[in-house]
Amino acid sequence: MSTRRGRRYTTSYKEREKAKQDPYAMLRAPRGPLVCPRCHAVFAKKRWVLDETEFAKLNADKTTKRSLCPACQKIRDAYPEGIVTLRWSELDEHEAEIRGLIVNEEARALSVNPLARVMKVVTFSRRDMEVQTTSDQFAQRIGRALVRAFGGKTAYRWAHKDMLLRVEWLGPGPIAATRSQAAMRSVAR
Ligand SMILES: [Zn+2]
Repeated sequence: MSTRRGRRYTTSYKEREKAKQDPYAMLRAPRGPLVCPRCHAVFAKKRWVLDETEFAKLNADKTTKRSLCPACQKIRDAYPEGIVTLRWSELDEHEAEIRGLIVNEEARALSVNPLARVMKVVTFSRRDMEVQTTSDQFAQRIGRALVRAFGGKTAYRWAHKDMLLRVEWLGPGPIAATRSQAAMRSVAR
């Protein structure tokens, strides 16, 4: 039978059974450094780093190659690799705090992976929000931070042929069926 609804949620984050190649990974490292004109990331010594000083130096050199980094390509293509769904009866009262937490988590994630970015934060209703990220591990990290800050629980599920991690965070207290459940059923294939 088809698996169009994706895997069931589990309460623990598991690595993909078969790690798929990220379609945005740079399979062949280019010769010489590259700079991303959008976010100023620099590709050198086979990895991307965020370093404004290095960017300014390379950007002033007309021979430096320019290309969107994988994170900016995903943002351009609206291709998330992590989606965090937030459901909580008190979500609207805490929305500013939650948005602040997401900004802080992004700053912290960037120090580990400069390509971990928030793509989009959408508020659907008084108790439903969604955060799209360029990285599954970063989505997992946001889920953990929400539990630490507010309680509640998270569940994880791989979707889209294991290229997308869905993290569902349920805030503490009672929750009625909401829009995100229906949306999740229609989106998760
Ligand atoms: Zn970039």
